[in-house]
Amino acid sequence: MVVKLDTSQIKDWRGFKGRPFLIAGPCSAETEEQVMETARQLAKINKVSVFRSGIWKPRTRPHSFEGIGLEGLKWLKRVKEETGLLVCTEVANERHVYEALKYGIDMLWIGARTSVNPFTVQEISNALNGVDVMVLVKNPVNPDLELWIGAIERIARAGIKRLGAIHRGFSAYEKTTYRNQPNWQLPIELRRRIPDIPLICDPSHIAGSREFIHEISQKALDLNYDGLMIESHIDPDKALSDPLQQLTPNELKELLSRLILRNPSTSDPRVLDVLGELRQQIDIYDDHLIDLIEQRMKVAETIGHYKKENNITILQSFRWDEIVKRVMIHGQAKGLSTELIDTIFKAIHQESINHQMKIMNNGVIKKHKISKRDKISG
Ligand code: PEP
Ligand code: MN
Repeated sequence: MVVKLDTSQIKDWRGFKGRPFLIAGPCSAETEEQVMETARQLAKINKVSVFRSGIWKPRTRPHSFEGIGLEGLKWLKRVKEETGLLVCTEVANERHVYEALKYGIDMLWIGARTSVNPFTVQEISNALNGVDVMVLVKNPVNPDLELWIGAIERIARAGIKRLGAIHRGFSAYEKTTYRNQPNWQLPIELRRRIPDIPLICDPSHIAGSREFIHEISQKALDLNYDGLMIESHIDPDKALSDPLQQLTPNELKELLSRLILRNPSTSDPRVLDVLGELRQQIDIYDDHLIDLIEQRMKVAETIGHYKKENNITILQSFRWDEIVKRVMIHGQAKGLSTELIDTIFKAIHQESINHQMKIMNNGVIKKHKISKRDKISG
């Protein structure tokens, strides 16, 4: 079901300097000097529309730096007056909204730990009623599209027109390369459900580490995101929060120069747009497939250890037969050919055996080939 909201396109937002709409600034405001100097350097890049800075910080554990508080709002006001950049900060309750508005903050964002809670989002919405301010809603920490849509709807109900969504990735229990796993499919679905919603990517919180910020930003642009929110600090290594994922303003400038803004250039851009989006979806599914196979291999390895401890052979034909029967029935029900299922699962099974062999032989891979007898038949 498509959700119709009365929101304005990002090109009509104040401060818009072209795609990508760029929001940059430190994770947290720490000192007046740090805030002012970062803002001055960012303003010089000429591409930043909005200066971000956390004033109240939601930290995973207590005793970490939890934000400078009210004092920082004065610094943001100064940033606005001296650099001309618009300013934004995170609000997590009604009081934050009132304080931020009092200091003329232009844009508010709702963090991932807040958008997860409808009570709090409603409280923020009530405080925003009838106010003209830009608001961005980050995805909730867990990949729940309805919860994200619900938070956006609540804010829209307050009459907020310049309203957008931020994809900042989703937390995972397992240790992953990125700090917060991006789920590129989810914002695509969000856009299908709320077609006009401006979409911003937060590569800093997805990456958790500087080295991945470029590739994530490029991916977001290729997926047609409207903007980027990137953390930038004059001295990232000394930052009181998120030191590993912040860039100096100079590094940010360099990263921006390497981003490719792809524009379809044929006589029928509409066809190209659709094609481009579909191809991106294919890439996403392919990445998912590889991730899934990796996870399957990890389970196979655990089984390998278990078999070793209990002195059981790697190949147990009854189990392989069971797998074959199951996937054939499942595959057929999904309209997939027996040939495809046969090829894929034989390859996957072979790979699992190789991984288990490696465990049995203490790290030395001895390849085992599945015999003809093991061929899957429909
Ligand atoms: C932030 O932007 O600094 C922040 C705390 O983000 P998130 O809510 O995405 O964790
Ligand atoms: Mn941060």
